[in-house]
Amino acid sequence: MSSREPWSPSSWQERRAGQQPHWPDTGALEGSLKTIAEMPPLIFAEECRSLQTHLGQVAAGNAFLLQAGDCAESFEEFSADNIREKLRVILQMAIILTYSVGVPTVKVGRMAGQFAKPRSSDFEKVGDLEIPSFRGHIVNDPTTTEAARMPDPERLVQAYNQSASTLNLLRAFTKGGFADLSRVHAWTQEFVAASPQGQRYEQLASEIERALSFMRACGIETEQNASLSEVDVFTSHEALILGYEEALTRKDSLTGEWYDCSAHMLWIGERTRELDGAHVEFLRGVGNPIGCKVGPTTTAEYLIELCETLNPSRIPGRLTLITRMGADKIEDGLRPLLRAVTDSGHPVVWACDPMHGNTFTAPSGRKTRHFDDVLREIGGFVRAHRAEGTWPGGIHVELTGDDVTECLGGSEELDDTQLDDRYQTICDPRLNGRQSVDLAFRVAELIRD
Ligand code: PEP
Ligand code: MN
Repeated sequence: MSSREPWSPSSWQERRAGQQPHWPDTGALEGSLKTIAEMPPLIFAEECRSLQTHLGQVAAGNAFLLQAGDCAESFEEFSADNIREKLRVILQMAIILTYSVGVPTVKVGRMAGQFAKPRSSDFEKVGDLEIPSFRGHIVNDPTTTEAARMPDPERLVQAYNQSASTLNLLRAFTKGGFADLSRVHAWTQEFVAASPQGQRYEQLASEIERALSFMRACGIETEQNASLSEVDVFTSHEALILGYEEALTRKDSLTGEWYDCSAHMLWIGERTRELDGAHVEFLRGVGNPIGCKVGPTTTAEYLIELCETLNPSRIPGRLTLITRMGADKIEDGLRPLLRAVTDSGHPVVWACDPMHGNTFTAPSGRKTRHFDDVLREIGGFVRAHRAEGTWPGGIHVELTGDDVTECLGGSEELDDTQLDDRYQTICDPRLNGRQSVDLAFRVAELIRD
């Protein structure tokens, strides 16, 4: 079996690798990969082990995972404001979830490296022309010309550099006072005051406020207490472009193990999860916590083999299964999988991606998702876990802190005619800042019920 065979950072090259760009100039590609291989790692092995320990707590039902960020990060929309606003929303959601679920929230951004996109077709038809599909800013440019869509290896280096700057700012914000509990809650109170659904959320927000007042009365000042003013936000992305991931894979001097130092956590997408494929081969050998998307066609037999291949030592927190079946399929589709994995004894984190199974094209022609479907999928996910006695470990969502109009619904009842107003994503539609905080309140209600 593949998991027993020797592994090296390049052993994936012997396997079929789906979704790789057709780089026109292999010399330039090798040059870029060599440059990246000589750059410092973006993260350190010890941080990955710390995240794995936290995720082990999620697997055991003692913590909740919030994994969130862009569908695809952009080279153009890259600014301190953009990063700060995304982080702010993630922190707000985390406090609402921590209070209502009653366990710590493990925060993982789809940030600082989430650039590459799998596509259903290698080509896109534009008029009479067939041009290469857009594969994310790490590969090409979305402009619909042949030249813009030509994969450019220089972009790999730019993606590394942007990831380094993003991570640097994330570290500064999360350790430098921005994440102070009282401050984040004050933003949530502003949100509640301005929200059309305000009354619905007021009770939960004032419960949190009372808890904070109680702490202050006991002499616990959040600003002076590192555990309340500093947070850990880990980074993650889909490990899609395997040459890039290999170039950042380094041996940990402490343990001698290999780590993919492009992010703390990496996941395998729905389109590249073949058991004998290159993506599974690559990720089985790195020490990082890893994830795999689980779509509606997944069978129990496949899933057990996947667990055996990716986590043969059955380390809690090593493997997160991210289900994305669609709101109508999740409850019945998930139950047999939960049963099979539980019976196998594999300690996995179960997370719900309520986005990718609920995408449709609106009458306006825009690709979108409805807030109600997103919530419905999470509802089905929670019910399936309740019925099987397993822990609904977390959510995995595409969001931005900005006031975009990409997903329908939410408390402001965004409709199809508004999608054009601020539709800014370069790939899938994201929840905007308000819809994201809305979602956290609604998930809190679901879990408390
Ligand atoms: C994604 O997470 O952006 C994505 C492409 O998901 P999936 O692999 O589940 O389709
Ligand atoms: Mn997406």
